[in-house]
Amino acid sequence: MDLQKIVREVPDFPKPGIQFKDITPLLSNPSAWAEIIDQMESLANEVRPNLIAGIEARGFLIGASLATKLGMGFIPVRKKGKLPGKTIGIDYELEYGHDRLEICSNESLNKKSKILIVDDLLATGGTALATQRLIEKSTATVVGFQFIIELCSLKGRIKLPQSVPIHSLIKYN
Ligand code: AMP
Repeated sequence: MDLQKIVREVPDFPKPGIQFKDITPLLSNPSAWAEIIDQMESLANEVRPNLIAGIEARGFLIGASLATKLGMGFIPVRKKGKLPGKTIGIDYELEYGHDRLEICSNESLNKKSKILIVDDLLATGGTALATQRLIEKSTATVVGFQFIIELCSLKGRIKLPQSVPIHSLIKYN
């Protein structure tokens, strides 16, 4: 199945100059979504995580589907102030300004945890790198990164640690 043909490209969203890659047609197509999760399962079997972490918000859809398929737990990585109770957070730079990501501080993340980080899209790599640093702050280990889409021209991949696999299913040049 040609997954790339199913992605909807929306020019100038959410602001002028951005070519937004909309994954909602993949989500509403059960065969396409099943294929995405099957392909991600193959990588997961290679790197053997014991937890999946998904980045707000589209990473939740992928991460929860994959974690359910693998029979593993899921860790939501959220934007600032959304999680209750004690959290671990990290500030990171955006093109303009900065942002903060947080995870719940609980016993499911410890030195024995091996985490596969998932998101819909790798662009400049800033969000995925911040997520890796955040997960490692919790003492867990990141064993790989998995994205549906990679915007190769933005070279996000070289920002990420080269010691673990970084997989994407659909590449745009
Ligand atoms: P970055 O930190 O630059 O790698 O950006 C990755 C995050 O921004 C992901 O969570 C994506 O959902 C979102 N994102 C960045 N660029 C796009 C795009 N062109 N289309 C859809 N989502 C994007």
